[in-house]
Amino acid sequence: MTAFKALGLEENLLKAIADMGFETPSEVQEKTIPILLDRETDMVSLAQTGTGKTAAFGFPMLQKIDVKSRTTQGLILSPTRELCLQITNEMIAYGKYLPELNVTAVYGGASITDQARQIKKGSQIVVATPGRMKDMINRGLVDISKIEYCVLDEADEMLNMGFYEDITEILSHSPKEKSTWLFSATMPKEVATIAKKFMHTPVEITVGTKNVGSDQVSHEYYLVNARDRYNALKRLADANPEIFSVIFCRTKRDTQKVAEQLIEDGYNAAALHGDLSQNQRDLVMKSFRNRQIQMLVATDVAARGIDVDDITHVINYQLPDEIETYTHRSGRTGRAGKTGVSMVIVSKSEVRKIHSIEKIIQKKFIAKEIPSGMEICEVQMFHLANNIKDTEINPEINSYLPNINEVLADFSKEELIKKVFSVEFTRFLNYYKNSKDLNISGERNFSGEDAKNSTRYFINIGNKDDFDWMSLKDFLRDLLQLGKDDVYKVDVKDSFSFFNTDTTHQELVMGIFKDFKLDGRQINIEISKDTGRSKGRSGGGRDRGRRRGDRNDRGDGGGRKGGFKKRSGGFEGSDKPKFKGKSRRGAPRPDTKGTGGRRRRKG
Ligand code: ADP
Ligand code: MG
Repeated sequence: MTAFKALGLEENLLKAIADMGFETPSEVQEKTIPILLDRETDMVSLAQTGTGKTAAFGFPMLQKIDVKSRTTQGLILSPTRELCLQITNEMIAYGKYLPELNVTAVYGGASITDQARQIKKGSQIVVATPGRMKDMINRGLVDISKIEYCVLDEADEMLNMGFYEDITEILSHSPKEKSTWLFSATMPKEVATIAKKFMHTPVEITVGTKNVGSDQVSHEYYLVNARDRYNALKRLADANPEIFSVIFCRTKRDTQKVAEQLIEDGYNAAALHGDLSQNQRDLVMKSFRNRQIQMLVATDVAARGIDVDDITHVINYQLPDEIETYTHRSGRTGRAGKTGVSMVIVSKSEVRKIHSIEKIIQKKFIAKEIPSGMEICEVQMFHLANNIKDTEINPEINSYLPNINEVLADFSKEELIKKVFSVEFTRFLNYYKNSKDLNISGERNFSGEDAKNSTRYFINIGNKDDFDWMSLKDFLRDLLQLGKDDVYKVDVKDSFSFFNTDTTHQELVMGIFKDFKLDGRQINIEISKDTGRSKGRSGGGRDRGRRRGDRNDRGDGGGRKGGFKKRSGGFEGSDKPKFKGKSRRGAPRPDTKGTGGRRRRKG
């Protein structure tokens, strides 16, 4: 509190800060607020998502404007309607003890006349999306000729979304001598250009390293066949029972499709994308905020600026076209000092993108494996056990107890536990019992495309030389300096062996073995004509499960038939809301299903 006071903020703002429960200023606030309070200056402030940038410009603006006047003095431009509303709400909360303050949100999809009317009443601050703002200016519904402060929030995202022209036009209606404060998570060329064009010797503030992803976020990727994407997603969700996540897809269509599938499979999911009506989007965001939705499937555009704290996982169902966008996605988790995980589901052809992203975020990804069905069952059972342990006993139960006790009188504690878990898990166990390994490292597919890109080698060392498939794999990997999954299909026979690498490594392999001796013996290697298609995977033994799984069109051991549907009372349907929704909220869960997801595409 005193720390905020030291920044130079006035009492009525400090009171609001105390009400909001902010204790110490974040770094960007500490660096920004004193400067903006102290002098009239332009500023470029770079800080990761979730570092408290809204307050960094919000408090100085509130302190500096004249709330007694009804002239519009501050304009805040932000990329999306969601963000626009968030900022407006934050500003209103910050200005709680400024009774004359009027903040108006201006965004598309809502009545323009209502917004104009609100501004006319005397809004000192207008928070707007560029498109609607430009409209209002052109129709003479808002006057920004006297603004003193202009904030370009999430400037990088505004430019990503193609608002450059709109911003230029809007600012041409504003006075030259205003102060412009630009806030951004990243500093691409375009932002530098805009800073140059619209600002005069701005003060530059950088929190953390430019462009570097938040330290609170760990990055993981999961390599699967493209056709297993959806099942991989489900497994990731099932392996994280407390998941509260945003799932990113590339297109509106995929977003809708994935959300619909999840809903059908009994998850608390919804879609958020530009084809939904305003009203639908509001409903979705509301349900997400209060945790009735655990998995929000969104497009990049729709998810811009979503400010929901406590998101545990960001899942990249598909990687974005522009790898820079990854920063924005992963920035939705790990906010306000919490930790988060950003997961990427990738197919083989996309792995190189992971390396490009690593360069941008300057952090390494952890290569992880999609959990097996049995691991998931274990996690879920443990989770249920803990839930039972932590559940507060509902006194309403008491009146029913005599009858219940009578029915269950003959069972010991052990038996009861077994029964309770059987009630909850039989379907779930059945569902995952025969599930396949979704990891490419565990299950290479040599039909079709992959076979063309893979080379199989014959090598004249084997069991006789004390190799088994694991030690041979390790030996080859070390020798070739290749990654964990780059040598595969290792089949060790008595005096010779086979293995595969991607064809891209063929030259490397042949080069190294050109004149290679092991313990004085010449080692021969040849390219085998057999791609390894008919050979069982060495050391794995999961093929049985895979084949069974393959019969199903959803692949994963049973999909709809496995009993995950709400209707059939399966695990996903009946348990998810019970364990997560209700236990966390403590109140019955209204049926939010399909607030966004139900809307099906025509045709
Ligand atoms: P950014 O714009 O940098 O992404 P926000 O301004 O949206 O970040 O803030 C992220 C979250 O952190 C919000 O929920 C906000 O209320 C909270 N927050 C901001 N400043 C503080 C602070 N000093 N102490 C605690 N929480 C804060
Ligand atoms: Mg922000």
